[in-house]
Amino acid sequence: MADECLFCKIAKQEIPVKFVYESPEIVAFRDINPQAPTHILIIPRQHVPSLSHATDAAMVGRLSLAAAEIAKSEGIAESGYRVVMNTNKDAGQTVFHVHLHLLGGRHMAWPPG
Ligand code: AMP
Ligand code: ZN
Repeated sequence: MADECLFCKIAKQEIPVKFVYESPEIVAFRDINPQAPTHILIIPRQHVPSLSHATDAAMVGRLSLAAAEIAKSEGIAESGYRVVMNTNKDAGQTVFHVHLHLLGGRHMAWPPG
């Protein structure tokens, strides 16, 4: 783990954040600055800085399947949701521990800003 990584600290519960989902490899929690009525971050427990650094296909796949499962439990599976993985500067990545945003509960425009 990167010692100073915020999301590693959250995954290890060194920063107390309520998980909405957890598995041996993944945890998910609500974004502190929600951009939609439902805005959840889904992260691997393992420190991987970004999608560009990911080598574990199963882990990347599990993040997506966790998003689909959480969308059901949040009641947004039918109405619809968006999953986003901001990667590096142009996409606006601010936390360099790979994470998938699950957004829903409102209509979303396309293309994104
Ligand atoms: P990104 O900009 O894609 O790297 O996303 C990072 C996200 O982490 C942003 O949406 C932040 O609002 C969110 N965030 C930052 N700190 C926390 C925290 N302590 N708890 C929950 N979400 C956070
Ligand atoms: Zn980390």
